[in-house]
Amino acid sequence: ATTERRTVKETNKTIRVLVVDDERDIRDGSQRIIERLGFEVEVAERGSEALKRLKQKQFSIVLLDLKMPGMDGMEVLARIREIDSSILVIVITGFATVETAIEAMKQGAYDFIPKPFEPDQLRIVVNRAAEKIAITHEAQRLARERQRTLIDLDTEKSRLSTILQSLPDGVIVTNSQAKVVLINPAARQMLELPDDMDTGLEIGAYIADEKIHRLIAEISQGKHIDYDDIGPQEIETDQQRFLLLKVQPVLGERNECLGGVVNLVDVTDLKVIDRLRSEFVAKVSHELRSPLSTIHEQLAVVLRDSVNAAPDLNQGILTRAKEKTHSLISLISDLLDLSRIEEGVICREPQPVQLETLLEDIINFLKARAEIKKQHLVLTRPETPLPPVQADPLALESIFGNLITNAINYTQQGGNIEVRVEPAGINLQVKVIDNGFGIEERHLSDIFKRFYRVKNDQTRFITGTGLGLPIVKQLLEASGGMIDVESSPGTGSTFSVLIPTQNTV
Ligand code: ADP
Repeated sequence: ATTERRTVKETNKTIRVLVVDDERDIRDGSQRIIERLGFEVEVAERGSEALKRLKQKQFSIVLLDLKMPGMDGMEVLARIREIDSSILVIVITGFATVETAIEAMKQGAYDFIPKPFEPDQLRIVVNRAAEKIAITHEAQRLARERQRTLIDLDTEKSRLSTILQSLPDGVIVTNSQAKVVLINPAARQMLELPDDMDTGLEIGAYIADEKIHRLIAEISQGKHIDYDDIGPQEIETDQQRFLLLKVQPVLGERNECLGGVVNLVDVTDLKVIDRLRSEFVAKVSHELRSPLSTIHEQLAVVLRDSVNAAPDLNQGILTRAKEKTHSLISLISDLLDLSRIEEGVICREPQPVQLETLLEDIINFLKARAEIKKQHLVLTRPETPLPPVQADPLALESIFGNLITNAINYTQQGGNIEVRVEPAGINLQVKVIDNGFGIEERHLSDIFKRFYRVKNDQTRFITGTGLGLPIVKQLLEASGGMIDVESSPGTGSTFSVLIPTQNTV
């Protein structure tokens, strides 16, 4: 109970009360009673004096005797309201003046107390007024707080939009109807859109590439939610700039699709560097190839002639030198192939190719190699003729030549290699299956990278450049096909290739 009283007193402290009465007993008695409630109290004898005090200091409650000599009580009330309308005025009235009290209430007095009054009655009205003040303060505090959170929200919003405005990456947000709801200045600049082009149109109005805007529309409409990752797409603008574009669905709380967000990065400079690098490699390889071939041929001649002419010569050293130059020449050929594929010159116009015949030819050619290792190399094909694929036959030879050579190289003596061709929708699928060394899971994503070779006890002595699979991959991409690999060490590897039977590129 004591703590409760103390809290009341403490909150009351901020409340200042002015008692205005011409009767000294009432004035002083009231002051004492109210002070004991914990309020700060001052007194005034006359209306005019009260008004003077009110102008000097802030009071929350005024106890006002309506019947005083001098200024009329009603008049004083009106003036107090003028000075500060939030002051709660409690009028003190005699029995005879109940009507005046009602009139005073109409004029804005908060409450009244009839004269003579008991101390308890006084405590009740003053406390009631104090409570009203506390409630008003609390309401004002809440209103201020609400105002502040609104301001915070507003600044948060403008901060986000400032960040988006100055982001160097392009950002476009679409709604679930694939209409653009936000596009930042970087995106506008990258897509070369006029400054006054508004949001609100379909995505196709902003991005010309049909395949890309269809993809964005589908993602915005929630058609690809289940795919974890839709790989980055590349587009070329009219100004020959290259943009890398990533689209993600924007998901709501219940995983429903609300639209899409597109991120754009200008990769033109990177592309230029990449092209310069390819050109450099192509140039160096080209320059190296003829002198190396000459050295290789000369070594062959020296080796052949030395057998009779100079039997003391160390044949082993010469043979190894010849082998090394041979691997260097094949490395250079691979590098040249890769550069040409990158420039897009190696893949000629696709034409109808009877894939099973082409595979048969390659297998016949490579059979001798497999036989040296006593391996079984077979082609499995359906009895009915297959539809022709649409591709460059030279590219196909390089693709399957590489894959089957790899299978022979990375399979032990006496192993089995099967090349299986069958239809798969609008594609033909070719699987090159071996029961050889296999590849550990952790290498699988790297073997298609340039120069990547798996090094272990089984592969150490197999020569290679690490360029075969990157060439295969590039050629397939250029022909609208794709490649996948499944493998486990000790069991073998299966490289699966899809090639379209209809023209897609
Ligand atoms: P290279 O054969 O010249 O080393 P590739 O790019 O053709 O280069 O192959 C990269 C690596 O992938 C090889 O070094 C080898 O470790 C692994 N690899 C490729 N094909 C197979 C296969 N059929 N079985 C096991 N490992 C393979």
